[in-house]
Amino acid sequence: MEYSPRKMQELLDQNDFKLKKKFGQNFIIDENIINSIVEKSKIDNETLVIEIGPGAGSLTYKLSLSAKKVLCYEIDTTLKEVLNENLRDCPNIDIVFQDFLQANVKEELKKYSYKRLYVVANLPYYITTPIITKIIEDAIPVDKIVVMVQKEVGNRFKAVPGTKDYNSLTVYLNCFFEIKKLMDVSRNVFLPKPNVDSIIVEFCKREKVELPENRQLFFKIVRDAFGQKRKNLRNNLKNYPLDKIEKVLQKYHLDLNARAEMLSLEIFVDLAKEIGENL
Ligand code: SAM
Repeated sequence: MEYSPRKMQELLDQNDFKLKKKFGQNFIIDENIINSIVEKSKIDNETLVIEIGPGAGSLTYKLSLSAKKVLCYEIDTTLKEVLNENLRDCPNIDIVFQDFLQANVKEELKKYSYKRLYVVANLPYYITTPIITKIIEDAIPVDKIVVMVQKEVGNRFKAVPGTKDYNSLTVYLNCFFEIKKLMDVSRNVFLPKPNVDSIIVEFCKREKVELPENRQLFFKIVRDAFGQKRKNLRNNLKNYPLDKIEKVLQKYHLDLNARAEMLSLEIFVDLAKEIGENL
């Protein structure tokens, strides 16, 4: 495959394909970025890779050179011809033309044997969070996720307590994954050029997820704690037993005037345990 803006445009034109904004179609046209994604993913020939949104197949092609198998989900059926042409020499790629958010991925995975399961993708930005949440909620057994996302969104995923980007989603995702930034990506490597910058983030599965038994209560407390942005815990958690909350906070040299942004995952877990035991 050849990578350049001209080559990509030619391929799309030959197949009468028009890029669709509604599906977040910004295709990568820079081979160096694609090589970096594949290298940093550390895929080997025992890895099954799920790619959400292969687009014209530029990343898919390189993934298939390293992986045992690449299983793609693509919502846009009008990409069939482009993908057939671009990936005709790759026997280890399966493409399911379906909305990933509606897909029964665990059922599909029964068809494959593999040692490691990775998700590697340049995500459609309009559904970045629903995609990651689906992976967690459907318990898709991924070992690692390496995804290109909008910079602001990626910064929230990997934020640490005490920073403005830290929010309830950060806490939720960090329960299941260790998250780090792999690299910044300029908007110039896409066709068409988006009006946001991007970063590549890696999510590595945590071996042990130390959550309170009542997970629903835990996540509700986290959401409520961040409920009203400028309010402190005394206000946002006023419907919970404040004396119990205060007791936990004191252990960490905090009080009810603190805001949710100050609380680490460990403190939230402790709070939920204390509240859960006293309901
Ligand atoms: N992987 C290609 C690349 O990097 O050049 C394309 C990435 S583009 C940002 C996002 C891709 O996701 C598009 O091909 C789009 O059609 C596809 N897509 C959008 N929504 C989707 C969904 N709900 N399920 C599966 N694919 C989707």
